[in-house]
Amino acid sequence: MPLNLQSPVSMLRGVGEARQRALEKLGICTVLDLLHHYPRGYQRRGDVRSVSEALSAIAQGETSPVSLILTVSAEPKPYTVRRGMSLVRVRAFDESGVCEITFFNQNFLRNVFHTGDSFRFFGRAAANGKKLQMTSPIWEPVVPGKELPAVVPVYPLTAGISQKFLAQLVEDVLQSAAELLPETLPESVRQEHTLCTLPYAVQNMHRPADTEALATARRRLLFEEYFEMGLAMAALTSGEQKTGIRMPDTDVTPFLRQLPYTLTGAQQRSVREIAADLSGGFRMNRILMGDVGSGKTAVAAAALYMAAKNGYQTALMAPTEILAVQHYHEIAPLLSVLGMRVTLLTGSLSAAERKAARASIAGATADVAIGTHALLADDVRFARLGLVIEDEQHCFGVAQRAALPSKGENVHMLVMSATPIPRTLSLAAYGGLPVSRLDEMPPGRQRVDTFVVNEGYRERLNGFIRRQVEAGRQVYIVCPSVEENPEKKEKIPDDPEELIDWLMAEDPLEKEEKPPLRAAVDYAATLSRDVFPDFSVAFVHGKMKPAEKDRVMRAFGSGEIQILVSTTVIEVGVNVPNATLMVIENAERFGLSQLHQLRGRVGRGDAKSYCVLVSDSTTETAVRRLDVLRRNYDGYAIAEADLRLRGPGDFLMTDGAVRQHGASSLKMVGGEADTAVLEAAMCAAKQLLERDPTLRMPENAALREAVETIRNRAQNTLN
Ligand code: ADP
Ligand code: MG
Repeated sequence: MPLNLQSPVSMLRGVGEARQRALEKLGICTVLDLLHHYPRGYQRRGDVRSVSEALSAIAQGETSPVSLILTVSAEPKPYTVRRGMSLVRVRAFDESGVCEITFFNQNFLRNVFHTGDSFRFFGRAAANGKKLQMTSPIWEPVVPGKELPAVVPVYPLTAGISQKFLAQLVEDVLQSAAELLPETLPESVRQEHTLCTLPYAVQNMHRPADTEALATARRRLLFEEYFEMGLAMAALTSGEQKTGIRMPDTDVTPFLRQLPYTLTGAQQRSVREIAADLSGGFRMNRILMGDVGSGKTAVAAAALYMAAKNGYQTALMAPTEILAVQHYHEIAPLLSVLGMRVTLLTGSLSAAERKAARASIAGATADVAIGTHALLADDVRFARLGLVIEDEQHCFGVAQRAALPSKGENVHMLVMSATPIPRTLSLAAYGGLPVSRLDEMPPGRQRVDTFVVNEGYRERLNGFIRRQVEAGRQVYIVCPSVEENPEKKEKIPDDPEELIDWLMAEDPLEKEEKPPLRAAVDYAATLSRDVFPDFSVAFVHGKMKPAEKDRVMRAFGSGEIQILVSTTVIEVGVNVPNATLMVIENAERFGLSQLHQLRGRVGRGDAKSYCVLVSDSTTETAVRRLDVLRRNYDGYAIAEADLRLRGPGDFLMTDGAVRQHGASSLKMVGGEADTAVLEAAMCAAKQLLERDPTLRMPENAALREAVETIRNRAQNTLN
């Protein structure tokens, strides 16, 4: 029976029950799944260097695998190192130099490498004086008239499935099955954006003819992914507007009079936009996006004031207890003057306090409930819930986000985010949801002077920290989280097949050298013992119990702790105006927006504040990225720059809901080119929607199906 796209993989040669189960773990059940199982990287074995080129690359600190074509100069010699361990050493050369190649426990190789024969070797190389050395490289005989593949795929694997097996499996079906793939993009879109056909794209993802073919293939698939995502998000968020509670009285003048400042233009605009939503009769589902410190809380407070004025309750949910308490202290006094009641509901209240809070929420004596996840509990019932505000929405899971609005009917929704999303990405990230942007900082906000330094500055940096603390200030030191430390497999496998997989598992595209991580725990101990024994140094990390974490944070807030070493748990919203120095270790490991948010933790008081980014990374991207932060203070500008440097992958698809097959492998190249693809795809999506808003035209039928799949998967991320 001929294969079709839906044929189960068990029909393929070599797939028995065990392998079928293993493949299933990779998400491969059918021939179609197999076609969509794209490589996670490629070895550019066609990029052949000479021995002398390889040596000079090594001298410059390059560590990526190299490809060499060498001729064997002498019959290989096997050695027995000890029991159970033998090696074969092969001497080979090209016109520029000599290379010594060692294989472990593969004695049969001495019958492979004969004097005068040529091979292509691919692997990591090291220098030994003027000689090059390779250990267990991948080898392929060079045979006249037979071309060796220039680009070789490296697949994501699972136990029981080897590279070789998977590559063969794909090979077996690729030609015949790829032709069966129905084209999903409308012809007009494909033409206009010069995109290759789907069969061509899939074939060249797996067996790229050359680097250009791979780029063409990838561009097409990436375009399609963004295009469909844009369409799906637009479809999800547009369409018929849902009925919402009408809140006609939106005069916020009395509230504004309570504020110790006047709202910025951007805040005023956002308040007006929210007022229009609340009074319009349709359900609000709005994003309030604003950089750290842009004043989102005041806007949120204006919104909940409006709801209260119209007789409705608001639930404001923050991701951490500290933040909830902070909001409570900021908002409660403003509203209580106006005769409105605010209650706090968090996990650390006593049973009696919690009971009282629940009663006031159920009995409508509280107009506003501010809290953490504790608000989601079943026994928290609102008498008249009209508005839900979620702070730092990315901290909440899908189910959590849907739970709160369901405690009322036709409830309005405002989601606050401190992560600026570049305008180009708005459609893909939020679909048609309206976004209020706080793109203007309250006046008098100081700039946090930012420096990028390396380990050589350690002494001076410690001196600087000391001076800040001695002047009565406080310091944050942020380290990458402990568990981010990649574990390196040290044991080299003996089995030749495993060995090849092991070698390939070393990410062939991984060019960025990684400076060693400063482990936060040890570092805090060292600092308090050896460097600042006279100061109070504390440590917080994500794995601590919430109560313990809160205790430390509170002690830092009260000034009892002078230096706080932490992982990124402090990223979200903490406000300690006396902190004037933010030191970030291994800064190259953080996203730019994240660094910017961390920097926003200081400069909140009157005193001059500083941010020091410590990084020993010398790669061009790392240096350029940190420089962006040194020069820019505007979150939107930073997000735009990050988008250009790293590509859109990191901004989108973070919760996996809007993710298709192979999305991760498409992220491989990233950077500027991807952003261009994204922009083109978003334009195309908008144009198509103008012509055919519901994708009913026959030529868009395949597309509609794809969009519907994504939509169903994403349904719950936005309520
Ligand atoms: P974020 O957007 O990070 O949540 P906040 O709402 O916490 O920012 O505001 C940061 C600080 O700025 C707060 O101390 C707040 O009182 C103050 N603030 C907000 N709006 C204004 C304004 N228009 N003028 C002056 N200060 C403001
Ligand atoms: Mg905030």
